[in-house]
Amino acid sequence: MTILVLMGPPGAGKGTQAEVLADRLGVPAISTGDIFRTQVADGTALGQQAKGYLDAGEYVPDSVTNAMIRERLCADDTRAGFLLDGYPRTLEQVAVLDDLLAGQRRFVDGVVVLEVQADELVARLLHRAAEANRSDDNEPVIRHRLKVYAEQTQPLIDVYAARGLVTTIDGTGDTAQVSQRVLAAANTLQAG
Ligand code: ADP
Repeated sequence: MTILVLMGPPGAGKGTQAEVLADRLGVPAISTGDIFRTQVADGTALGQQAKGYLDAGEYVPDSVTNAMIRERLCADDTRAGFLLDGYPRTLEQVAVLDDLLAGQRRFVDGVVVLEVQADELVARLLHRAAEANRSDDNEPVIRHRLKVYAEQTQPLIDVYAARGLVTTIDGTGDTAQVSQRVLAAANTLQAG
């Protein structure tokens, strides 16, 4: 059983590394951003609720996000563990996740934080903007997302660090190098 959280600012490479790590550990990677984007693309009620927030680089309200994650974490494929990419992002989400897992007699095993300098983040996201066509990858929204992360999500690192769960790794370099660091961190956290 492994439950890991991947944290880091927009552009740090959480999504890419979550896929690699999930594959290696044989557990699902659960990305709240991906789930929201799929819902928006499918035009579901949840997607319609979320779209404005995504486009503006704002967090979707906790009530909406928490309801979605509650449902997702009850699915059978999470029994052997899972990896969270992009959740929790607020203190309230931390509390909801704690509560949800306690109800399942489970807990977070570790938090891997990907660290990348701000100017590198902006450069990466602008590069992706040119390729990937994400509605929130334009410079003003990118800058806003970084600010929202610093204000609302960065403080969560201290909360998890106080529980002895955090390993911070350097998110720069090529993808394979970063994957090596993430895998090493995950192994240590699992063993601990
Ligand atoms: P990034 O980390 O680059 O911002 P994500 O795909 O993780 O990309 O998130 C994209 C958007 O999805 C966020 O800006 C936000 O609108 C929404 N979102 C994702 N996860 C959450 C969450 N845990 N709480 C609220 N909103 C979220």
